[in-house]
Amino acid sequence: MEVKVRYAPSPTGLQHIGGVRTALFNYFFAKSQGGKFILRVEDTDQERSSEEALQDLYDTLDWLNIKWDEGPIVGGPNGPYIQSERFELYKKYAKQLVASGHAYYCYCSEERLDEVRTQQKAEKSSQQGYDRHCRNLSEEERIEKEKQGIKPVIRLKVPTEGKTTFHDVLMGDITRKNIDVSPDPILLKGDGFPTYHLANVVDDHLMGITHIMRAQEWIPSGPLHVILYEAFGWEPPLYCHLPMVMGKDGQKLSKRHGSTSVRDFKEKGYLPEALMNYVSLVGWSFDGEREFFSQEELEKVFDITKINKSPGVFDYKKLDWFNGQYIRLMSDEDLEKALIPYLEKAGFIDKDISSDKKKKLDELVVCAKPRLKVLSDIVELAVFLFTNPEVAAPEMFVAKKMDLKTSYEALSKTYEIMIEDLNQGKSFEDVESDITNLATDMGVKVNGVFTPLRVALTSTTVSLPMSDTYKLLGKEESFKRIEKALEMLKKEVE
Ligand code: GLU
Ligand code: ZN
Repeated sequence: MEVKVRYAPSPTGLQHIGGVRTALFNYFFAKSQGGKFILRVEDTDQERSSEEALQDLYDTLDWLNIKWDEGPIVGGPNGPYIQSERFELYKKYAKQLVASGHAYYCYCSEERLDEVRTQQKAEKSSQQGYDRHCRNLSEEERIEKEKQGIKPVIRLKVPTEGKTTFHDVLMGDITRKNIDVSPDPILLKGDGFPTYHLANVVDDHLMGITHIMRAQEWIPSGPLHVILYEAFGWEPPLYCHLPMVMGKDGQKLSKRHGSTSVRDFKEKGYLPEALMNYVSLVGWSFDGEREFFSQEELEKVFDITKINKSPGVFDYKKLDWFNGQYIRLMSDEDLEKALIPYLEKAGFIDKDISSDKKKKLDELVVCAKPRLKVLSDIVELAVFLFTNPEVAAPEMFVAKKMDLKTSYEALSKTYEIMIEDLNQGKSFEDVESDITNLATDMGVKVNGVFTPLRVALTSTTVSLPMSDTYKLLGKEESFKRIEKALEMLKKEVE
């Protein structure tokens, strides 16, 4: 049997980590089995669906290099793959269930349903929801309602006795008493639109889906779906509900933990390869040790039985680490290409970059490569090079246990050492060791002398290593900045 799986998002918001994890697991499982990966857009809720979310879905999968074998845009033998283009089909299947006695028309008004709910609450009734009022309408009663022009909904006749069991690859058998299953949910609404349950089951069947891999929050719908399959006389697919994705605090991953939309990760400068690699390890592992996998490798080694039963933790720090590793693997040219948009956006460079700046940029990329976690980090690291920012306040020059006066003294002496050493043709590494000696002579910590120099050259207290900073700026510019800083400090201490 050829494996066929699907990713079936509702385009109601931006693609987030949890959704993408579901997509990846489906995709890798399909590939590893030589099967097919289908994309289906579940936009039955027309109010909440948006064009933007749909575009974001395509963009996200494109960016991750996930190609679907059947689905929107590419088509396929079971299309269309957008549910709003299949509404006639669902109507037909709902009516088929009415004809076979597995579903029925319900004419209840919203007011009546509200009253029922209020009463159930007041009586603390064990049965909550629809009271199955129209389940036993006689044909005369039904015709009467039709005459009144009421547009009915179609409800599923959920058995009131017995149990329903479905098998989940990870969780084993899951059984519910039928009486605890939602009482006769709506399949087709009054306006002829299907609900999620009907469209989902009909499509999974018609599209030949063999395994349903989806988030665990859908487990409660499982028995209902199986009852639907039985009503149609269809064989249900195998289920594999995926463990939840949590933040480090054990709560379901949400905006509280940080951004979760893939678009945000892309904008911050995460690489698709890194995100794919890391997300594939959230709730899955190969052998508990190996962590680095290319897409091609995952397409081979992904194994559904190795999905964890317990929730997966999404650790932003770990992702940063992965991303840094992937950045380190890039060639200098590729990295430069990837960084340019960030530098352009920051206004540091233009489309037609001068050869001077290009040279600076080439050097910068080499210096920054070992330090970047995400591509956008380059902006903070490069400000000093492409602009000459003012030092915000003289206190910035002052390291712990230092004051303005000693900081001024340290920078003056540092400057003298630099001039002398460099005139003698010493390397910047030698200069640095002489500056370190200066700290000892002054009886202060190393930071006491390096902070004033760092702030003088970059106007910030975090930056690339001093030698990189100096080399990138060049002697002339470095000296200019140190003199300017000395002037500022001098005014303060006089
Ligand atoms: N449209 C549902 C969702 O957005 C799909 C659930 C399923 O995979 O069955 O999660
Ligand atoms: Zn009713």
